[in-house]
Amino acid sequence: MGNLEHYWMPYTDNPRFKLAPKMIVGAKDMHYRLADGREVLDGLATLWCVNAGHCRPKIVEAIRKQAGELDFASSFSTGHPLAFAVAERVAELAPTGLDHVFFTNSGSEAVDTVMKMAVGYHRLRGEGARTRFIGREKGYHGVNIGGMSVSGVPVNRKAYGGLLLGGTDHLRHTHDLSARAFVRGCSPTGAELADELEQRIIPLHDASNIAAVIVEPVSGAGGVLVPPQGYLQRLRDICTRHGILLIFDEVICGFGRLGKPFASQYFGVTPDMITFAKGVTSGSVPLGGVIVKKEIYDTFMKSSGAGVQFFHGYTYSGHPLACAAALGTLDTYAEEKLFDRPNELAKAFEDGVHSFKGAPHVIDCRNLGLIGAIEMAPREGAPGARGFEVFEKCWDKGVFVRPVGDNVAFCPPLICEKKHLDQMFGTVAEVLRTVA
Ligand code: PLP
Repeated sequence: MGNLEHYWMPYTDNPRFKLAPKMIVGAKDMHYRLADGREVLDGLATLWCVNAGHCRPKIVEAIRKQAGELDFASSFSTGHPLAFAVAERVAELAPTGLDHVFFTNSGSEAVDTVMKMAVGYHRLRGEGARTRFIGREKGYHGVNIGGMSVSGVPVNRKAYGGLLLGGTDHLRHTHDLSARAFVRGCSPTGAELADELEQRIIPLHDASNIAAVIVEPVSGAGGVLVPPQGYLQRLRDICTRHGILLIFDEVICGFGRLGKPFASQYFGVTPDMITFAKGVTSGSVPLGGVIVKKEIYDTFMKSSGAGVQFFHGYTYSGHPLACAAALGTLDTYAEEKLFDRPNELAKAFEDGVHSFKGAPHVIDCRNLGLIGAIEMAPREGAPGARGFEVFEKCWDKGVFVRPVGDNVAFCPPLICEKKHLDQMFGTVAEVLRTVA
């Protein structure tokens, strides 16, 4: 297998991997192919991103063709047609009023970009004191400094104390097993948790200092937490009342995960800005971005004294290969009506997730659209060990599901069928019976 020593793998127990490598050498549709020829069912759209499935023909062809035609052109004062075309397509899918798109290469970059946009927008309107950001406990907004600072997953923050931005605060998370365990979809109780923004956080910091609130509509990497009914609308109303921007981080929820292009449309709540990545290219080439409402874009465009309205951008913002991949992906979603799949599979998926009620160690089951998780009680003195054991044993049985602490997350590609769900849930059920 070659020398594995030199690669420092991200978010990975490196020595453990290198002792028994889970090496993927190919993929097609719902499956990985491993170095030893075995197939593994992808139950997490790899990292919540391969919504169209693996190596889909239109996407592969678009990337191949583009690589031979225009490998790279910068978007700093020059342009290429594909970036404009993708921006138009994304704006068409976005909630009404959000119609300008800025490209990044990842979700983390999208989050740090949206934070700069928020501060810049307020400053241009003469509200330069609005620099503070409000995130949420258990939220995940990537790994760059801004995103890490508004995130609320303790293990991701712990090692970086002094690097975290000072000007942040966090709403409480909505996870409450005593009140809401085993709820199917959105809980009818808990919307009032949003009121903390107006009752505690705004009085503490003063709205005039707060730039934006950022939340994932359904938080993913923090353990798949589904918002209570009405919760997001309450956040929207409070932000509007206080001139605070509302940002939805849709890096996971975007591109069909909940049966609509964006979660904003699923919940009927329109934020001021949306961050996206992952599903826009179905994971095939890195691409992310921020969608903003017209008023924000216009505020920047009117501002220009120095010729450049926004002093920000990545060398590879709107990279031609990524844009070609995005066009192939968006065509695939449209032609195969993949954003309808979560609705078509809703019952089977929900029943599958909730079939674990009563299974060994399971203390909660959560689901919405085609995203879900079961939560297990942690093993005494070894938090996360059960989750990891389930992941490894499922992998050995040909199914990939992701451990998030002691949660096991499900987020299959939108092309999945009932038989794939049955295999995924069936394998996890079998494995749970063997976990101490
Ligand atoms: N925001 C959310 C909601 C995410 O789930 C993620 C990654 O999982 C990110 C941001 C970071 O994206 P990336 O890993 O592409 O930087």
